[in-house]
Order: sequence, then structure tokens, then C-alpha cells
Amino acid sequence: MKILVINCGSSSLKYQLIDMENEEVLAKGLCERIGIEGSNLSHKAAGKEELEVKKEMPNHTVAIKMVMDALVDPEYGVIKDTSEISAVGHRVLHAGTVYSDSIVVNEDVKKVIRDCFDLGPLHNPANLMGIEACEEAMPGTPNVAVFDTAFGMKMPEKASLYAIPYEYYEKYSIRRYGFHGTSHSYVSKEAIKYCELDPETAKVIVCHLGNGASVSASIGGKCVDTSMGLTPLEGLIMGTRSGDIDPAVVQFICNKEGKDVNEVLNILNKKSGSLGMSGGVSSDFRDVQKAQSEGNHKADVAIQAFIYRVAKYIGAYVAAMNGVDAIVFTAGVGENDKPIRGAVCEYLGYLGIEIDPEINKARGKRVTISTPESKVKVCVIPTNEELSIARETLALVK
Ligand code: AMP
Repeated sequence: MKILVINCGSSSLKYQLIDMENEEVLAKGLCERIGIEGSNLSHKAAGKEELEVKKEMPNHTVAIKMVMDALVDPEYGVIKDTSEISAVGHRVLHAGTVYSDSIVVNEDVKKVIRDCFDLGPLHNPANLMGIEACEEAMPGTPNVAVFDTAFGMKMPEKASLYAIPYEYYEKYSIRRYGFHGTSHSYVSKEAIKYCELDPETAKVIVCHLGNGASVSASIGGKCVDTSMGLTPLEGLIMGTRSGDIDPAVVQFICNKEGKDVNEVLNILNKKSGSLGMSGGVSSDFRDVQKAQSEGNHKADVAIQAFIYRVAKYIGAYVAAMNGVDAIVFTAGVGENDKPIRGAVCEYLGYLGIEIDPEINKARGKRVTISTPESKVKVCVIPTNEELSIARETLALVK
């Protein structure tokens, strides 16, 4: 069975065609600048040359048609006909409080995605466009919505509710949702298998450390807490997002700088985090680390603060679960950055955690970086959100 995985942004569309017999990626690609002048598609099928098509894509429907053309192309493609695609799995950001699991798309599901436009203003409209484009291009082929918020929806109320008047939850569904759910779900389940833990009781902490960053705690694969909130702004320090902050800071900056709330929120989302703390060096950890190594004090503090906050969240989640069996690092920084992994784990000596510095040099591969004597397993498991979406899709359509 072949499953197409689609991840739509407002002006982009990433895709992978996966053969679920062996979970191999048959082809993948990216449409960029959809709806903007100068759009192009780059497509690569396993064992074939890369294809670049520079052609205007005024909307996602045209982009999907170009993806279909690339997939069936006699030279660059991998299938003879689009009927070989059994189902399409879509990454969808937000389902509000309605869905806590993936679901086959019908008109009701589309309405929920639409109703959540204000909770995911950048992503939900694009996700819906991707679904409708696939419905048009492949009538009759099932579409599955895999929600980024689904994993966090399993959190108990004591973790998900904000300490604000209850009526706001009732009226507007204001609560903590968590994001990167497909990644946390995939990595925590893989960790249970990889570390040979009990699937029912395993206590796992996943540190998804990329440009966006979040930590989750799960017991038996079920989320008990996660660091992002109503939006992806809460929690860890990220590339450009502040993470946790006293909300009074917003009012203070508004008053001092004559800005409105939206402008300050934009600053907290796009100009803060490592970028802001380093005095504008970069949102990319590699650049900030380079500046740190050259003696830039602000860059040094930005890196130290990032590590410190990850360690604090891990400590909090060990308490939340009254223990931990495995701590897992994933995403760009988590998979590649040994100094950051090492420095986070230095805070965790009280848990009896010991890291093997030689093994911790590993990059981008599945590995246990803790020593055999370590009281808690610490490992690196590269995330694979596309495969996670394909598996969820398969489970619903087979
Ligand atoms: P992501 O959002 O998962 O793509 O992760 C992006 C972040 O990962 C950026 O801050 C990068 O600096 C960091 N990153 C990616 N590759 C590496 C690497 N090889 N070594 C260190 N950091 C990396």
C-alpha cells in the first residue's frame, strides 16, 4: 500500500510517497512559493535524478497537480497512475478540543479544521487547502488528518488547564494543547521499543530540540505533560521564540515602546529566543555557538539559558511522573549537537545519569548515549514525522 504524506504551509507543500510494505520513501519533494511569483517544485525519487520544475503555482490545487505529474512521470516518477496511492495523510496543526486522534476527513472534520483557524491562523488554512486540493486531484482517495495537537490532548486537566477563569476554557477552549505532537508520539513509541521498556508503563521524556523546541512526558506512550501551550510560544527557549515568560512583560513593553499586544507577540514569536538573547546573532544554534566560541557573552548566555531551561523541564517532568525510564533527544539540535546534549545531561547527575562522551559524538542516528551503569537510559532517536503520519493513515484506512 502506498501512502502520500502532505505537509502544507501557507506558501509551501512538502510531500513523501511511502511504500508501507517496507516503510521505504519512494519519492519526496517540495513546492515553494505557492501563490507567489517564482514558484518551483523540486522532486526526488529513490535512485533517480532530481527534478526541478519552475512553473507558476497560483494555489495549492495547482501544486498538488504538479506533484501528481512528477509522481507519474515516466522518467522521474515512481508510479504509473495516481490510483496506486491508497490514501493521503495530512499534517494538520490544530483540532481544538474536538479530536484527540487522527481521523479520516469528511465534511465535519473539515468544519472543525476551519473552526480552528483562529487557534492556528498560519497553518490550519493551508492544511485545509492541501486537503481540498487532494480531494479535487484524487476524488475517492481517502484523506486522513493527523493533528499536531492530538498527542497533547491526552494530558490530564491538571496539566492542560491554565489557572485563569474557567469560563475562558468553556467559551474559547483556551487550554494547553502542545505541538510537535506527531514527533513526540513517534519518538516516544520508538523509544519504548528501542529501550525495550514496558509499553504500558514506560515513563519517557522526549526533548524535541530544533528551531522550534518542546519537551514531553509520557507514560505508556500517553502524554502526561508537554511544554508548548495554547500556541507554540510557551515552554523552552527556541530559535526565535521566547518560551515561558511573565505575561506582564508584554504589557511593560507595550507601554514603554508604544506598541500594541500583537506587535509584542510578534516580537516574542519571531525576534526572541536565541536570536533575541544573543543580541541578534542568529536563530541557528550553530551560528550562536560559533559566536559563543569567539567570546560573545550574549551568545554564551543564550546557549547556557537554552540548556538550563531544557534541564529544568526534564526535572519537572521527572517529578510529574515520579520517575523516568528513558530520556530521548531528537530534531536538529537533539540529533546532532553533542555539546548541548552533554550539557543538559550534566544537570541530571542527581538521577544517576551518566553519558558516554565517545558515543555522544554520534550525529543523526539512533544510539544510546548513556553508559550501561546509568540509572536512566538516554538516547538519540531521529524523528520521522512523515513516517508517523503514514502509519497513522495506514491504521485508519487499511
Ligand atoms: P530543525 O528545526 O529540527 O530542523 O532544527 C534546526 C536547528 O538544528 C538549528 O538551530 C540548527 O543549528 C540545528 N542543527 C541542525 N543540524 C545541526 C548540526 N549538524 N549540528 C548542530 N546543530 C544542528
